[in-house]
Amino acid sequence: MKKSRASESAGANPYRGLPPVNELLETPALARWLNKLPRPLLTSVVREVLDQCRREIERANGKTDLSLPQLVSRVNTQLEQSQPQVLDEVINATGILIHTGLGRAPLSSRAIGAIAQASAGYTALELDLATGQRGHRVDAVRGQLCALTGAESATVVNNNAAALLIALGTLATGKQVIVSRGELIEIGGSFRLPQVMAASGALLMEVGTTNKTRISDYASAVTEQTGALLKVHPSNYQITGFTQSAAIDELATLGHKHHLPVIHDIGSGALFDLAVTGSSDEPVARNSIDAGADLVLFSGDKLIGGPQAGLIVGRRKYVEQIERNPLMRALRVDKLTLAALSATLSSLIDPQQAARELPLWMMIAAPIEELRQRAEQVAGALESRAARIRAEVVASTAHIGGGSLPSQGLPSAAVALSSDRVSEDELARRLRSGTPPVVGRLQNGRLFVDLRTVLPRQDESLVEALVAAIGN
Ligand SMILES: *Cc1c(COP(=O)(O)O)cnc(C)c1O
Repeated sequence: MKKSRASESAGANPYRGLPPVNELLETPALARWLNKLPRPLLTSVVREVLDQCRREIERANGKTDLSLPQLVSRVNTQLEQSQPQVLDEVINATGILIHTGLGRAPLSSRAIGAIAQASAGYTALELDLATGQRGHRVDAVRGQLCALTGAESATVVNNNAAALLIALGTLATGKQVIVSRGELIEIGGSFRLPQVMAASGALLMEVGTTNKTRISDYASAVTEQTGALLKVHPSNYQITGFTQSAAIDELATLGHKHHLPVIHDIGSGALFDLAVTGSSDEPVARNSIDAGADLVLFSGDKLIGGPQAGLIVGRRKYVEQIERNPLMRALRVDKLTLAALSATLSSLIDPQQAARELPLWMMIAAPIEELRQRAEQVAGALESRAARIRAEVVASTAHIGGGSLPSQGLPSAAVALSSDRVSEDELARRLRSGTPPVVGRLQNGRLFVDLRTVLPRQDESLVEALVAAIGN
């Protein structure tokens, strides 16, 4: 204390007017930060502000009229602006349910409880309590995944890209993997199938054409060099018209004739037919297993509605090989992911239970009349509290997103916002920088606030955020 006080006040006279760091920190207005932020962080912010002041004093040739309250208020502003906001809650009004930019699926209260419980103390993560021997961390969810998909075994890695990386790297490194040209997909920019394959050490063997690939194309490409057959669900686009692709059961028959593993990357991970969304296009994990796929890969945070994870289900011998790969250590998931995943899977008994317990499935299943009513309420509140903004309830189309069901829209209701005084881009910007931030969707010159992706408990803060951001 003494030392810093001395060094703070040392130096040329003009800076004498500036208080030492500790004195500033002990003013009541700043002391409240001490139980929110670590002291070294506070100290560095105070130093930064004092340095700015010194530069100002220098520019003013040594004159300063900065008072203590002014300094305190500068530090306060700086601290408020430097608060990390990345992981604060955002209202998703985009109408895209699985929005990678907004963190994909919100977790169920059961999953949140499981995370809280697993994180507060110790868990038998890798200990078999019955025998006292070493267990495997995935044992917690292996049985659930097998029961839900009909697979012999299952394992979990960090995400679906990692699942593909380790599956190919284990079963086909240095060998050719045969894939249809129509399935060489890119998802969200950073996932490009050929690049993931190159990273795994497997060699890409493209067959067929963009719109047509027959089973005979695969058959004539099989050689001594072949390590696996791969089918990838082209999640985020559709090839329509004059098209053909080989079905997974045809690939399984061909693969097994040559003793080759057949891998199916189904992407979103539907566990049951999505009749509720009016679609049956999304491959169901169990159907692929039934059709003979040796490994089926999918994400934990797309249609499963759980935490980020890559789920691998299929033949025991291949799952065991994957688990012995040293890469497994780098791609494994932590206890919080496993806790959340296990809780999520226990809600996926059937679509009805999923729609009662998982936020993603509640949003998918929300009746349109209910969404329209909520939109009316939001628009009504804006009419009385933000009269200069035009707010009209309109029909909208929400999307599952995350690469699921590209052509499928879910009917939805939105509040369309517009103003004579500010552009829709400016409205969008103001909403994004509000508290909480609201992310809407620009459509036909208006800003849509789509209610299907707004969690019902957020309706009130949505209105507050809209009024505060654009009300005047
Ligand atoms: C989304 C997707 C991936 C990537 O999954 P992540 O869990 O985001 O790593 C891979 N393959 C397909 C077919 C996908 O749809």
